[in-house]
Amino acid sequence: MLLKNLWNKSLKEECGVFGIYEHPEAAHLTYLGLYALQHRGQEGAGIVSSNGQKLFEHRGMGLVNDVFRESNLNLLQGNKSIGHVRYSTQGADPLKDIQPLVVHYPSGLLALAHNGNLTNAVALRRELEALGAIFQTTSDTEIILHLIAKSQKTTLPQKIADALSKVEGAYCLLFLTKDSLIAVRDSYGFRPLMIGELSGAAVVASESCAFDLIGATYGRDIQPGEMVVWKEGKVESSFPWVQHPPQQCVFEHIYFARPDSRIFGENVYEVRKALGRQLAFEHPIQADMVVPVPDSGVAAAIGFSEYSGIPFQMGIIRNHYVGRTFIEPEQAIRHFGVKIKLNPIRDVLKGKSVVMVDDSIVRGTTSQKIVQLLRQSGAREVHVRISAPPTIGPCFYGIDTPTQSELIASKKSTQDICQFIGADSLGYLSLEGLLQCVRKSNQYCTACFDGKYVLLPSDG
Ligand code: AMP
Repeated sequence: MLLKNLWNKSLKEECGVFGIYEHPEAAHLTYLGLYALQHRGQEGAGIVSSNGQKLFEHRGMGLVNDVFRESNLNLLQGNKSIGHVRYSTQGADPLKDIQPLVVHYPSGLLALAHNGNLTNAVALRRELEALGAIFQTTSDTEIILHLIAKSQKTTLPQKIADALSKVEGAYCLLFLTKDSLIAVRDSYGFRPLMIGELSGAAVVASESCAFDLIGATYGRDIQPGEMVVWKEGKVESSFPWVQHPPQQCVFEHIYFARPDSRIFGENVYEVRKALGRQLAFEHPIQADMVVPVPDSGVAAAIGFSEYSGIPFQMGIIRNHYVGRTFIEPEQAIRHFGVKIKLNPIRDVLKGKSVVMVDDSIVRGTTSQKIVQLLRQSGAREVHVRISAPPTIGPCFYGIDTPTQSELIASKKSTQDICQFIGADSLGYLSLEGLLQCVRKSNQYCTACFDGKYVLLPSDG
């Protein structure tokens, strides 16, 4: 038998953070918040809580529901907590890299959860190590803790502001001490972070779907470059860093965020539908049906169908119970990785001309396999429509993409990609079209589509 790890083969997602201040069921609610944010990271999860005197922590590899049990949640005492879901386990000891990280600093224990990616991490780490710092993890997040420990400023918010003035890149951070919760969003605002309210308690999360699950109400987005401190029942906001024009990640809207979330001031589902409508306008086609690649292509396919008048059909069904690893027979099954997740419905597709809608093409292998599956299931024609422009560059701001040379659109023309995936036609949404579908279009980072990076990794 072959044990396949499909997670390693596929692309991985980024991270999600959740925090709550002064609620008697802090850890339980954080668990639920993380559960709602599971799509942002499936490889590990952790929660740190405070009862005013001590911090309590629990973390592990796997899905939120695997990591937390009633028994370990009950040990996470106190009315404040932060949590994290994580995608990456690249370190030698992956368990150590699972966040929130917890360290002793001069005023006590400090926990930190990070969503994003620092662009000057390697240089900073080298500098700190040259000065004698010993790192416990391989994660760039630990650099922030070392910089805080070294800061000569007086209060923790001042130390954080001082530390982060040396850091470049994307970061939404939640800090927890025994008596405070601190939330920070970097000055470019690459990743979403927002504040809500539940029975008088403050909640913070990467996406609003986490508020919905626990019955919290959305309050506002944390602004790019803002630090919010909850301490002694009071809340204070400040903007201690140099401000930049916002660079919110447009790929959150295209793929990452949950469609039921509001991020960057608008609902993700509505944006995705608008992308689909725009796509139908830009790349019209005559066909019998619009079929999404579930789940990521569904909302855009609805928009495509609405605009074009071509009926929407769930011609491919997703198996929602796909685990981490799979036991495949010795005699390999063709397209096993895709087939275990997606199954076309022969009775719907037979003899039909199909518009297949997905959110993006990265390496091209997924689209290639799905096109083949559709044809094997009897589709007469397969026209692929992608609700994003060609992905030509990697993300340095917290989305795990392959290297540039692995991105098919960095090397091949749309015509060549169409041939590679075996489609009858291929149409990508234009960058201009994409930006017409979001409000405040000048506030978005589109570097993976246009190569215009506002920050480049300073360490190669
Ligand atoms: P590929 O076979 O590399 O072209 O993968 C394309 C598929 O991956 C599409 O169906 C996307 O929905 C999905 N996708 C795009 N970006 C990511 C990402 N960063 N992480 C996980 N999946 C992704």
